[in-house]
Amino acid sequence: MRFDIATLFPEFMDRALDESVIGRARKRGLFEAYCHNIRDYTADKHRRVDDTPYSERQGMLMQAQPIWDCYKAICGERRPHAIYMSPQGKTLTQKRALELAQMSDIFILCGHYEGVDQRVLDRIAPEEISIGDYVVSGGELPALVLIDCIVRTLDGVLSQPDCYEDESHFSGLLEYPQYTRPEVWEGEAVPPVLLSGHHANILKWRREQSLLNTLKKRPELLENAELSDDDLATLHNVN
Ligand code: SAM
Repeated sequence: MRFDIATLFPEFMDRALDESVIGRARKRGLFEAYCHNIRDYTADKHRRVDDTPYSERQGMLMQAQPIWDCYKAICGERRPHAIYMSPQGKTLTQKRALELAQMSDIFILCGHYEGVDQRVLDRIAPEEISIGDYVVSGGELPALVLIDCIVRTLDGVLSQPDCYEDESHFSGLLEYPQYTRPEVWEGEAVPPVLLSGHHANILKWRREQSLLNTLKKRPELLENAELSDDDLATLHNVN
């Protein structure tokens, strides 16, 4: 899988993509990422890529020309799936990240300042993806969130698929509480079932705790989750 990222901060993106789980996956060649400086494509002799908006708003907008030329240079004959990180896009979900993980070629545009001239967005026609209903200063952190979320689901990145399949949001529920050594910490013991070695009981406990955790923290998620009769009984017993 290949990502091409158009940004004003390619060094920052490159460094971030070299860290931790994603960095190890990149080094092992499980995905490729190329960070392109939009400024390298400006026709302005002072390397400017922004100008004032016509709407009489304060602030600056990224101009169409450098972005379009950067996009064309990156793509050549290829037609990658184009994404614009934007607070106006659909909010990223685990489901969408899993769908994107099936694609082999993704172009990501990171905006900055007050955003991007609409004409280049109309030309590229990207999917717009938001990381939440709030505004940050640039598309770089949102792009890193998106890439991380996609890459950790690729084969071989985590040691086992259940590392992410059991996590919050994969099945529509939140994860169950987790415990590690010591068995007793400051008088608080790990739930005995986890020490029992009884696989079926542990699975049952995990499912029940996932349901209860979701009910407590994000009850609205239960509306769209696939629930069995046993799940419904578990939820019924708490109410
Ligand atoms: N004026 C724009 C608006 O109101 O929609 C926001 C511009 S924001 C300051 C600058 C850039 O940060 C955007 O072009 C986008 O690339 C990125 N950005 C900001 N918030 C984001 C979010 N929640 N999700 C994804 N990208 C975001």
